[in-house]
Amino acid sequence: MTIPLGMEYAEQRKLLHWGSDCMTKIVRFKTLSDSQIRWGIQDETGIFEISKHLAPEFQNIHQVFARWDEILPDLAELCTPANLVNGATITCPIPEGGKVICIGLNYRDHAIESGMPIPSEPVVFCKLPGTICGPDEDVPIPSCSQQVDYEAELVMVIGKPAWKVKQSSALEHIFGYTCGHDVSARDWQIGRPGGQWLLGKSFPKFAPLGPAIVTRDQVPDAGSLRIEMQINGEVLQQSSTAQLIFSPAELIAYLSGCFQLLPGDVIFTGTPPGVGMARNPQRFIQPHDVCVVTIESLGSLRNCFIS
Ligand code: ZN
Repeated sequence: MTIPLGMEYAEQRKLLHWGSDCMTKIVRFKTLSDSQIRWGIQDETGIFEISKHLAPEFQNIHQVFARWDEILPDLAELCTPANLVNGATITCPIPEGGKVICIGLNYRDHAIESGMPIPSEPVVFCKLPGTICGPDEDVPIPSCSQQVDYEAELVMVIGKPAWKVKQSSALEHIFGYTCGHDVSARDWQIGRPGGQWLLGKSFPKFAPLGPAIVTRDQVPDAGSLRIEMQINGEVLQQSSTAQLIFSPAELIAYLSGCFQLLPGDVIFTGTPPGVGMARNPQRFIQPHDVCVVTIESLGSLRNCFIS
């Protein structure tokens, strides 16, 4: 895109970042001089501090998710060089406190790989508090598991509360999308009597998220994004969200018929084929493995596993 010379910086920024070919990425961060977590907008220039320039209620990121329309008009004016942050460390874009909902077997190609029938309704489970963590955080491998597996996933972040919403209006309740890693201890999830899904999915930091949230308006079709998992540089999962059995809108409509979705809740939408359990030979996560989830337009989420 060519930016006409002599334009005001804020005008240039509007053209650059609120045009169709660029992304507004929401990040949470802390700095060396201030350990309080704040939020801002990230682009190739850096991170712009936004939270301290808005009304106090918007320090709370859940208010940001729910009332984004009120903030949007001020953003271009706030993304100026004066508000660039020095030495920011990006943290998880979503704070603890919301629900962490997960959908199992939601990729056609993964259901076939697992030898399972294509589900006629979404398979729903959740992860307990203490599982969310951010990009570049180390994830401990629990000493009681020898089969910790990886799952790259597209994650929806809820904006407006949703209760019994129709599929036709369901997307309005999504604030944005981010990358997620549904870490899974298979020897607990499947190996234990009865199958302990909740336990196998809820060890500490088993839900890395990030690095940024891309707002929904910038992802016109979440059903056509390339998705990939690399471990130590080797591609182990590679697919497209076009393989999703239940779309984001179908999932919101289905879930909101059973419980209320609230701002800051996240929904892991399922994983494509190539997980360690289904490989021959099987390949589980080892100490020092570096897992990177990459989703087209959303970025890359990197976490190292430690013993
Ligand atoms: Zn999963």
